[in-house]
Amino acid sequence: MILNLDTPVSLLPTVGKKKAELLAGLSISTISDLLTYYPRGYQDRSKLTPISDLKGKGRETVAGQSIRHIRFGKVKRAIISDGRGVANLMFFGGDPAKLLPIGAKVIVTGKAKRMAGKIFFSNFEYEVLKEELNSHLKIVPLYRLSGDFGRFGQRLFRKIIASAIDLYKEKLEDSIPLEVAEQMELISLSEAISNIHFPENWKKRKEARERIVFTELFLLQTALTINRCRTKIIHKNRLYSKRDGGELLESLPFSLTKSQERVILEIENDLSSPHPMNRLLHGDVGSGKTVVALWAGFKVASSGFQVAIMAPTEILADQHYLVAKRWLAPLGIEVGILRGGLPLSQQKKAKELIASGQIQVVIGTHSLISEDVKFSNLALCIIDEQHKFGVSQRQKLIEKVSGPADCLIMTATPIPRTLSLTLYGDMDVSTLNELPKGRGRIITAVRSDKNLPKIYSFIKEEIKKEKQAYFVYPAIEDSKERDYKSAIKHFEKVSLEFSETPVGLLHGRLKPEEKEEMMQRFAKGEIKILVSTTVIEVGIDVPQATIMVIEDAEKFGLSGLHQLRGRIGRGGFDSYCILITKEKIAQISSSNIRVELEEQDRVSVERIQAIKSITNGFELAEYDLKLRGAGELFGLRQHGLSELKLANIIWDTRLLFKARAVAAVLVADDPFLNKEAHLPLRDTIIRIFGKKMDLGFIR
Ligand code: ADP
Ligand code: MG
Repeated sequence: MILNLDTPVSLLPTVGKKKAELLAGLSISTISDLLTYYPRGYQDRSKLTPISDLKGKGRETVAGQSIRHIRFGKVKRAIISDGRGVANLMFFGGDPAKLLPIGAKVIVTGKAKRMAGKIFFSNFEYEVLKEELNSHLKIVPLYRLSGDFGRFGQRLFRKIIASAIDLYKEKLEDSIPLEVAEQMELISLSEAISNIHFPENWKKRKEARERIVFTELFLLQTALTINRCRTKIIHKNRLYSKRDGGELLESLPFSLTKSQERVILEIENDLSSPHPMNRLLHGDVGSGKTVVALWAGFKVASSGFQVAIMAPTEILADQHYLVAKRWLAPLGIEVGILRGGLPLSQQKKAKELIASGQIQVVIGTHSLISEDVKFSNLALCIIDEQHKFGVSQRQKLIEKVSGPADCLIMTATPIPRTLSLTLYGDMDVSTLNELPKGRGRIITAVRSDKNLPKIYSFIKEEIKKEKQAYFVYPAIEDSKERDYKSAIKHFEKVSLEFSETPVGLLHGRLKPEEKEEMMQRFAKGEIKILVSTTVIEVGIDVPQATIMVIEDAEKFGLSGLHQLRGRIGRGGFDSYCILITKEKIAQISSSNIRVELEEQDRVSVERIQAIKSITNGFELAEYDLKLRGAGELFGLRQHGLSELKLANIIWDTRLLFKARAVAAVLVADDPFLNKEAHLPLRDTIIRIFGKKMDLGFIR
C-alpha cells in the first residue's frame, strides 16, 4: 500500500474507525486535510510560574502534584501543590479523583483567580505528566474542535496530528519550484508543517506561518496569473485604427475626470494590442463608467466591428441606449437596442439589423444572449454591473464573437485592492477612483422615528421644488419571524402622509415588467416618491431624486447602504441620505459618546458611523472587510479564496504582493508550466483550482 497525502486518516495507527468518523465531522478525511488543519492558537507552556507568584492577569502555566480532592455539591476540586503554594482546580464535570489521583504530576495552563486568599483555576487546560517535566514545556497548539470531537479534546487531537507529522513529513511533496524557494529563503515544507503545529519557539512558528501563507498565496496567484496571461498569447487579428475617439470626447458636455482619462488610455492600449482585452472596470457608483464604455464602443464600431453592451435590467439598457444614441449617432454610429420588453416585431427587426451588421453598437439585456441573436462581426463585449450576471451568461455573449473577443466587464461593487487582486486576479483591472466634479454634496444624517414628522415636511418642501425621494425598507412584507419594517406596509403610511403626491411601490416580488414600469415612471417624474426595497440598488440615473430615506437602516449591510446612497446625488443638486434607526443607535451614532452596548447594537453603531463619515466606496469596502472578515463578503466560498486556510487576505498583504510578483515572473518565463522544474507546481495547481477556474489549457 502506498502511503501518500491522500491516504485516509483511518489508516493512521492513532485513528480507528470511530475516531475517523469524528474527524470526518471536522471535514478531515485524508492525511493532507489533517496536516492542513492548522491551530487556531497556541498555549505557551514554555515558562513555568511558581504557584505563589501567580499574577492572575493573563494565562499562566504552573506544574504541581495532586494532594487532595474536595467535593462541594456538583463542583469538585483537586488541590495541587508545587511545594511553594497550592492551587484549586475546579471540575464542573468529570471526577478529579479519577483524572488526577493523589500524587499525579500535572501541568496546568489558565487564568488564575484569587478569592479569599486562595488560588482557583476554573477555566484551564491540564495534562498529566507521564514523562520528565521538561518534555512538556513547550508551545502547545490549540485546535478548533467542535461537535463530538470536543469531548475527546485537544490532547487526543494533538496526538493524532503528531503521529501524522511523524509518518508523513518526509513525504510532503513541495510544489514550490526551487528557484522561488531560494529567492524567498523559504524554510522546508516539512519544517514548516512541524513548526506550525508544534513550534520549537515563537521565531520558528513565525517562519513556519510565513512559509505556509506564502505557499497558499503563491499557488492561487500563479493560477490566476496563468489565466490572465493566457489571453496575452492569443492573437486577435483585428485592428481598430480608423478613429481615435477624440471626436466623441470633444462632443461631450463635460470634460473627463483624471481617472476616466487614465482608464481610457488603459483600454486604448488593450484595444490596439494584438491580443484580446480582458479587463475589469471597477468604479464606484456614479464614477462615470458609461462614458468610458461608450468610448471603447465608439473606437471599435468606427473601425467597422460590432459592439454589444449587456445590462442587467430593461430600464438600465434603455438608459444606456438613450445616452449612446445621443452621443454616438451624431458621429455616424448606428445604435440599436434589443430587450425582451419591446414588441416582438421591433425585436425581430432589431435582430435582422444586428445580423446584417447595420446596427454597430447594440445595447440590450439577457435577450442578447438568446440563440437566435446572430451578429455579423461582433468584436467587443461590454458587460455592465457584471455581478448581476452568471459566468455562463457572460460566456454566452462572448461566444458570439468569432475568434477571440475583447471584453470589458464593469462593476460598481467597490472592492479593496488586496481583495480584487485575488478575486479578479485573472483579469487586468482598471479603477475609477474619483467622482466627476460639479456633483452636489450628499449629506448623510442619522435620525430616529420620532424625527419622521420633520423629515416629512422637509420632503414636502423639496417636492415643491420638483425634487423626488426614495423610501427604502429592509423587508417586502411584515412577517412574524422578523421585526423588520416593510415596504408594503409603509407604502400605505407614506401614501397617506403625502396624499397630494403620486407615490409608487417597488419590490422584488413584482413581475419584471411591473418593476420596469414603476422605475420608468419614477425616472420620468410621474411618480415623486418611490417606496421600495433594495431592488433599486442597480443603477439608473434620476438626477431629480435627491432624497433617500432608509428606514431600519441598521438592518442593512454597509455595501448595501452605500449602493443605495449612490442612487442620489447624480445631478448637480445637494442631496440627502437620511438613515432612520432605533432611537438609541441614532443618538449614539450622532454624538460619539461612549456607552456600553450589546454586541448587536455596537456593530450597528459602528456601521452607521462608518457610512456617515466615509463617502468613498473603496474606503468603505476596506472598512467593511476589516469589520467582517473576508469570508463573509460577496459569497466567496465558490472562489479560489476558500483554498486559503492560513493566509488572511486582509492582513497578509505584504506576502500577497510578493506572491503575485513572483508568480508573474515565473509565468512570463513559462506560461504553461511545461518546464521539468515546474511540473509539480502545475500538478498541484490543477488539483486545487482545476475545478474552480478554467485552467483546462495547461493540461
Ligand atoms: P456609473 O459609474 O455609476 O455607471 P454613470 O456612467 O452612470 O456612472 O455616470 C453618472 C453620471 O455622471 C451620468 O449622468 C454621466 O453623464 C455623468 N458623468 C460621467 N462622467 C462625467 C464627468 N467627467 N463630468 C461630469 N459628469 C459626468
Ligand atoms: Mg452604471
